[in-house]
Amino acid sequence: MKFSEFPYARPDMDAFKREIETLLDRFRGAQTFEAASDAIAAINAARTELSSLLAIARIRHTIDTTDSFYKEEQRFIDEQSPVYQGLVTEYYRALVASKHRARLEERFGRQLFASAELALKTFDPAILDDLKEENKLSSEYVKLVASASIEFEGERRTLSQLAPFLQSTDRDMRKRAADARYGFFEAHEQEFDRLYDELVKLRTSIARKLGCRTFVELAYARMSRTDYGPAEVAAFRKQVRDHIVPIAQRLNERRRRRLGLDRLRYYDGISFLSGNPTPKGDPAWIVERAQEMYAAMSPETDAFFRFMTDGGLMDLESKPGKRVGGYCSYIGAYRSPFIFSNFNGTAHDVDVLTHEAGHAFQAYMSRGFDVPEYIHPTLDACEIHSMSMEFFAWPWVGSFFLEDTEKYKFSHLAGALTFIPYGAAVDEFQHVVYENPDWTPAQRKSAWREIERNYVPSRIYDDMPYLERGGFWHQQQHIFKSPFYYIDYALAQICALQYWQRSNRDRAEAWDSYVRLCRAGGSDSFTGLVRLAGLRSPFEDGCVASVVGDIDAWLSAVDDQSL
Ligand code: ZN
Repeated sequence: MKFSEFPYARPDMDAFKREIETLLDRFRGAQTFEAASDAIAAINAARTELSSLLAIARIRHTIDTTDSFYKEEQRFIDEQSPVYQGLVTEYYRALVASKHRARLEERFGRQLFASAELALKTFDPAILDDLKEENKLSSEYVKLVASASIEFEGERRTLSQLAPFLQSTDRDMRKRAADARYGFFEAHEQEFDRLYDELVKLRTSIARKLGCRTFVELAYARMSRTDYGPAEVAAFRKQVRDHIVPIAQRLNERRRRRLGLDRLRYYDGISFLSGNPTPKGDPAWIVERAQEMYAAMSPETDAFFRFMTDGGLMDLESKPGKRVGGYCSYIGAYRSPFIFSNFNGTAHDVDVLTHEAGHAFQAYMSRGFDVPEYIHPTLDACEIHSMSMEFFAWPWVGSFFLEDTEKYKFSHLAGALTFIPYGAAVDEFQHVVYENPDWTPAQRKSAWREIERNYVPSRIYDDMPYLERGGFWHQQQHIFKSPFYYIDYALAQICALQYWQRSNRDRAEAWDSYVRLCRAGGSDSFTGLVRLAGLRSPFEDGCVASVVGDIDAWLSAVDDQSL
């Protein structure tokens, strides 16, 4: 059956609630392990059925936001999602308290219980109003950023419409575009500071109501980090400072020479004077190349990509009424991943078919799990699948980029490495902010500027006072919306770079490990999955050093001045 034929009718939430409550009673009263186990299986089946309907409606709504039927369904889902969350919380409470827990852990795996326990730590009815307020404040941030309407080159533009000008090879154009962008943030500096101040104080108060010393502890629980804490992450950041920052600085120096500039300034974010690498065909051509790539890559990816195309499980091209951005979703009842994107003619289109397809491939490989929690790992692990697929695609990227292939590989690998220090800076900033909730906005900004100097010393803002006093992070949505999430990208990237390294040495061995990792889904914690895949944990001293040497050598061998 194709995605377009998946039936949808609005779920009866009252009936669902009654069903779950009956099953929960049965579970709590179960005299035998078998009866308890059967009740869990029935709860999982009911949840999968409901969540599949919600996923179908959500996907169809984002594909055409003007369709009034699915718009109404999306509104219904938003309204009902606290009811659903409440039932899941009840289920978790029963699960961790079960007298059959030991045998249930053997049957369903320990990870379900560990993450259920952590999830329970993050909620109490006493914080319900605070959570609403937290949502309201982060939506206010999103609205403020989306409200940007900047007069530039004869038209009013949003920040994302301004973005291509920041990539212009004409330096004057870049500077004017950057000044327009930061002009918007500076004009709303006090509002961004106020919103964040309120968020920090509110989150701290929520954490204390839940018995945590600071919000940091609660944030780690919200991210479902069952197996590491701030000390491990700090050890990773130290490795980044010691081993990646110096290489990133050399790469920036090479970029400066490539661009023929005296100094890199805040508006010099481009990589090549000859422009960025681009795919050499239209969307249909790109999808054909992807089909050939996945057919050649492995029997698993061949079956996966056929499944996606045959099932109409990708909606890739931009069209009127379609929501912006991209994502990968999963419809449990049909064991089907779904890829949503907006192709725009840049290298981004190929990234969709490698990165988002990496997420989808993992979901496809873990579709045998009947525990919904095991379809999706925690976010740190999730990004390993996607970022590694970008590198496993290397032998075929030439078919997309033709004469731009070397340029693509160089900027992909250099970009993967230089991103990590910035990711660590965003993380360290949030740690110091929430450890010091009474700081003033000015203290926060000066702390940011100091952290930035340690991790991204190439940033010099002597001619931009707003950035010099520490305003850069205002544009980083995660800091407002998804606290402490950002480091996950850096942790996953170090793992993906290990796959790049391993596949250069022994492709078959690296691929086997990757498939094993994808099959394991979310059945283990981040460090558990890393161990299962035979990767070195990013928290372990020496991990970063063991991978960056090869990358540095590869990048150094490229004659980038001619790209
Ligand atoms: Zn991703």
